[in-house]
Amino acid sequence: MTSLPRKDLFDLPPGVIYLDGNSLGPLPRAAGARAARVLQDEWGTQLIRAWNSAGWMDLPARVGNRIAGLIGAAPGSVATGDTLSIKVYQALDAALKMRPERKVILSDSGNFPTDLYMAQGLIDTMGRGHRIVTPASQDVVSAITDDVAVVMLTQVDYRTGRVHDMQAVTEAAHAAGAVMIWDLAHSAGAIPVDLTASAAEFAVGCTYKYLNGGPGAPAFIYARPDVIDGVAPALAGWMGHAEPFAMARDYTPAMSTERLRVGTPPVIQLSILDAALDAFDGLSMDDIRAASVALSDRFIAEVERRCPMLRLVSPRDAGQRGSQVSFAHEQGYAAIQALIAQGVIGDFRPPDIMRFGITPLYLDEADIVAAAERIEAVFRDETWRAPEFNVRSRVT
Ligand SMILES: *Cc1c(COP(=O)(O)O)cnc(C)c1O
Repeated sequence: MTSLPRKDLFDLPPGVIYLDGNSLGPLPRAAGARAARVLQDEWGTQLIRAWNSAGWMDLPARVGNRIAGLIGAAPGSVATGDTLSIKVYQALDAALKMRPERKVILSDSGNFPTDLYMAQGLIDTMGRGHRIVTPASQDVVSAITDDVAVVMLTQVDYRTGRVHDMQAVTEAAHAAGAVMIWDLAHSAGAIPVDLTASAAEFAVGCTYKYLNGGPGAPAFIYARPDVIDGVAPALAGWMGHAEPFAMARDYTPAMSTERLRVGTPPVIQLSILDAALDAFDGLSMDDIRAASVALSDRFIAEVERRCPMLRLVSPRDAGQRGSQVSFAHEQGYAAIQALIAQGVIGDFRPPDIMRFGITPLYLDEADIVAAAERIEAVFRDETWRAPEFNVRSRVT
C-alpha cells in the first residue's frame, strides 16, 4: 500500500511526462466519478435537501481535517473555501489585530505577488500606517525587529524551490513578539510540515497544486487552536457564524477555525478535492518526501550532465529544496514551449526560470531520465528557435 508512484490513480494523457504538478496537479481518476455522483445523485436528485442528506454542510470541515493530517495540524484547526488570496487577507488581518501597536509586515522579496498585493490592499483599507518590508529571503530573520507585527512568508519559493526553516523562523518571530503566518501553497502535499510543532499562529494554502484538487479548487486556512477564539474575522460571512441558519441580525463567530469560512462552499470542487486526497491514503509525507528527494537529485544530475548551458537555481542541498527543480536559461520560455510540444510539461517564470515539479505520486525514475533526455535534445538541436515556441501565451 505504501509504494510509489501511484500512476494508476491519475488520468494522465499517454506520452506526457507531467512536471507541472507544482502549479496544477493532474486529474485524479476518482474525480470524474465523484463529480458525476455529486451532480446526478446529489444535486440532481436530492436538490436542496443534499445540504443535509448528502453531507454537503459537513464537507468543508471534513476536507479540512484531511488536509490537517497532511500538514501536522490538529483536527478542527483547518477551514476550507475561497481562494488562497482571500485566505491570505483573512490571516493577515487577524494577525495584525493581535499586534495593534506594531506597524510592519515582514515578508521576503521572493514571495508570490498576490500575497504582497493582498497585504497592500489590506493595509490601504486599514489606513493606519502599516508598511510591508521585503528583504531577500536569507535576510528575513535578521530583519525581525520589535516593530514587526507579522512575519508572513511562503515556505517554499515558487521560483527557486528554496525552503524557509519553518521552526527557526517561527521561533525568531515569536522571540521578537511577532505573529507568524506561513503560506503552504508549495508545501502542502509536497513536503512534511508540522504546524503544531512550529507553533505558528496561522497558515494558508491552496489545493490545486500538490493536492491535485483541480483548477479553482478551494483554499485552506489554519489557525492555532489557542488563538482562534480571539480572532474577529475581517470577512464575517454567514458560513463563519456560530449558527448560520438562526439568521440572526448580528454576527457571532463560530467557536473554531470555522469562523474563517465566508460564504457558501463550492460543493463540487470540494467533492473533487475530497476524492483527490485519497491518493495520499496509506502514505506518510515522509514516504513522499524520500521519493521526491531521490527523483529530484537524479533529475539535477541528469540535466546538469547533459545540459551544461543550464544553471541550477534551486538549492543543490535537498534539505533546502521543496519538491521542484528550477533551471535558468535566457531562452527558458521558448525551451519550455518546445518541451511541451514533445510531451514534457514544465513551466516558465520570468525572467528566465524553467520550473519542473517533482511529484512522486505519479512520476518515477524512468520519467525523470526521459524528461532529461528531451531537455538535452531541445538545447542540442536548438528546437526552441522555432517561431511557434517564441510566442507568449497569457499563462506561461
Ligand atoms: C499559487 C499561489 C497563490 C495563488 O493564489 P490564488 O488565490 O489561489 O490564485 C498564492 N500564493 C502563493 C504563494 C502561491 O504559490
